[in-house]
Amino acid sequence: MTRVALVTGASRGIGRDIAQRLAEEGMEVLGTSTTKGGAQSITNELAGHGKGYVLNVSDEGSIGNFFDAIKESHDAPLVLVNNAGITRDNLALRMKEDDWQDVIQTNLSSVYRVTKQCLRAMTKERWGRIINLSSVVSRMGNGGQSNYAATKAGIEGYSRSLATELGSRGITVNCIAPGFIETDMTRELGDDQIEQLRARVPLGRLGNSEEVAALVAFLASEEAGYITGETIHINGGMYMS
Ligand code: NAP
Repeated sequence: MTRVALVTGASRGIGRDIAQRLAEEGMEVLGTSTTKGGAQSITNELAGHGKGYVLNVSDEGSIGNFFDAIKESHDAPLVLVNNAGITRDNLALRMKEDDWQDVIQTNLSSVYRVTKQCLRAMTKERWGRIINLSSVVSRMGNGGQSNYAATKAGIEGYSRSLATELGSRGITVNCIAPGFIETDMTRELGDDQIEQLRARVPLGRLGNSEEVAALVAFLASEEAGYITGETIHINGGMYMS
């Protein structure tokens, strides 16, 4: 049986490599982007192993439309990777209400809403893999990222609770907490800041998204069936939990 995997935010960065890797593992991958162009490029890159769709995870209506659309032509996803995420950095004192709300909606409320849509089919199948992208800053904290860190810590608490609820149904729920990975999100930081970050990493480099994708593929596999409620760190030793 070819399993369907849903990867949110699959047009770029970590999500793009996760989508590719799960396709290589033999899954049918549904990848999402907020734009039509992004959805088309996902379809092209998946080359027959899945399809790109438009989805804005911060919009409840868009989530409903997306799940209605995929019902027509695909089995329900039994592997869910909640990857889409944004940053809106500022010191807490200067943070605008919109920057707080946008990050909460896109990174945290989305995980609750998208996951909820997938639970019925996973429960019926008595098998599921839910993998949520957290971040090292959920544990370390990071000046200027109080909104982002709050969402990532929230995702981890949500995942542990869900793992407790769903274990008896054969569904595992885990988080992956990357350190600094080379993507558009980190490129925004600028060369000086990236150099300072590199100096804090025992392995002496930023990570790459293929390394995160390999961990996702493992957690999505049969072999990972006895791991649930965990947060697995991947950060070159920058933070050792
Ligand atoms: P990225 O390169 O900025 O890509 C973000 C992806 O999320 C894009 O595909 C984007 O889609 C999608 N997205 C953004 N807003 C969305 C929305 N409202 N609805 C649906 N999709 C949306 O990010 P990344 O660095 O790969 O990060 C991926 C995940 O890893 C995030 O959850 C991030 O917090 C986490 N993470 C990253 C790092 C890192 O160092 N890069 C470290 C720790 C954790 P479109 O632009 O196509 O619309």
